[in-house]
Amino acid sequence: MTFTPHGKHLIAGEWVGTETRFASEPAYGPAHAFSVGTPQLVDRACEAAEQAFWSYGYSTREDRAAFLDAIADEIEARAEAITRIGSQETGLPEARLQGERGRTTSQLRLFAKHILKGDYLDRRHDAALPDRQPLPRPDLRMMQRPIGPVAVFGASNFPLAFSTAGGDAAAALAAGCPVVVKGHGAHPGTGEIVAEAIHAAIQSTGMPQGVFSLVQGGNRDVGQALVRHPLIKAVGFTGSLAGGRALFDLCASRPEPIPFFGELGSVNPMFMLPDALVRRGGALGKGWAASLTMGAGQFCTNPGIAVVIGGQAADGFIEATRAALSQTGPQVMLSDGIAAAYARGSERVGGAAGVQDLLTSMCDRRQAKPFLFKVQARDWLGNHALSEEVFGPLGLVVVAEDTEAMLTVAHSFAGQLTATLHMDDGDVTLARRLMPVLERKAGRVLANGFPTGVEVCDSMVHGGPYPASTNFGATSVGTLSIRRFLRPVCYQNIPEAILPQDLA
Ligand code: NAP
Repeated sequence: MTFTPHGKHLIAGEWVGTETRFASEPAYGPAHAFSVGTPQLVDRACEAAEQAFWSYGYSTREDRAAFLDAIADEIEARAEAITRIGSQETGLPEARLQGERGRTTSQLRLFAKHILKGDYLDRRHDAALPDRQPLPRPDLRMMQRPIGPVAVFGASNFPLAFSTAGGDAAAALAAGCPVVVKGHGAHPGTGEIVAEAIHAAIQSTGMPQGVFSLVQGGNRDVGQALVRHPLIKAVGFTGSLAGGRALFDLCASRPEPIPFFGELGSVNPMFMLPDALVRRGGALGKGWAASLTMGAGQFCTNPGIAVVIGGQAADGFIEATRAALSQTGPQVMLSDGIAAAYARGSERVGGAAGVQDLLTSMCDRRQAKPFLFKVQARDWLGNHALSEEVFGPLGLVVVAEDTEAMLTVAHSFAGQLTATLHMDDGDVTLARRLMPVLERKAGRVLANGFPTGVEVCDSMVHGGPYPASTNFGATSVGTLSIRRFLRPVCYQNIPEAILPQDLA
């Protein structure tokens, strides 16, 4: 199947073009023209989503599960074309796009199975106690209900699994919420073909057309109009700290504030404990280099900082990391803007007081090579900017002089998606002291592994205290992510005949 984007927006079942166009910036292959989004199109999409909610929000779980399965089938029917345009636009290798497509379709199917089980409704019942003294108790039932239309901002680094039909959209649709996606400018053609798949699934399952719209960007007004739109009830976002914070603030300043589920920046610190470094520092260095450079380091769970206690074993680990990183060739980044941000970030870190270069690289346009830096804990603690994310394959080793200094470093981190302990038998006492600190900092704490590679399952938490996310009570990966788009409603003495069917 060949696919050439027509460059239109999908508004409630209709492909709509606008006169003003922007050109895509593929890593390779031809550029294509895309219609620039407008606040008027956002308004049409949101109105249609609200209208669709009155049927979709009350659809059966079986019908919604069939719809999610149909989207997965339609994506698979376009598999090769999706891989080709996705790889051209983002520069990600085809094998990565194929893997990500599998993750996207299995995520949709997992949500389908999850809602069929019904546990997510969290149904509760406190039966009436008419004879209770001094006051009778009414009959009380509780259940989670969908919140209404949801806005989704596709992520640049997951053109499939976190974009048009990705985790946020799948969770919202599973919950019973219509979705309006703001397409990411780094992969508009990929967004279009996936929207085509969703459109086909809407047709085949008879869902209301307004249940899904895609408005392409090309203009900052689009995202702002979307989060401000009075019919939008929540926002799912993955991207930069600056962009996410601006949109979060807009959500909070609306006449009716709404939740903004932003997954922003993280440096995912790893604590390399002494016994582990003595026993297997070389292997840990190689492992870190592999995790740090995976996908050109463009993962939100990329482990950007390793904290060690200075000494011979730490030096061996650092040297093994440096040697492995120096074997890594240039990798294409997701967009010119992200490559430029990486170059600026590496200059910022490399130029900071006390930072020592261990491996520096020249980056060509849109290409990344790894950087490795080292800094003493006291210098690191004095410069907050060194704990900020640099999106790309940049590693920073923070050298603590002893265990107390390592604990001080652990306490100083802001919120993280992940925190990792590399430990062996002799490290248990120190690890026990670190655990309560890391648990307060991160959504996921790991031992003896690398945080890249996020399992989509029931127990996953991909979130954490700010700035890892704007809502520490939520996850954007795994079945628990559906809770973001639900709210509890209590039904007091409501007759059986008019209770929602899932409660009756
Ligand atoms: P981004 O610049 O935050 O953009 C994400 C989305 O939000 C885009 O659709 C963008 O629209 C929109 N947006 C951002 N700021 C906005 C504003 N003030 N008003 C309205 N819309 C706004 O992120 P990105 O393009 O994906 O990548 C840039 C940087 O984000 C990277 O260098 C990296 O630091 C970070 N990043 C982090 C993660 C993570 O998982 N933590 C993932 C991806 C990227 P436009 O396209 O119109 O700007």
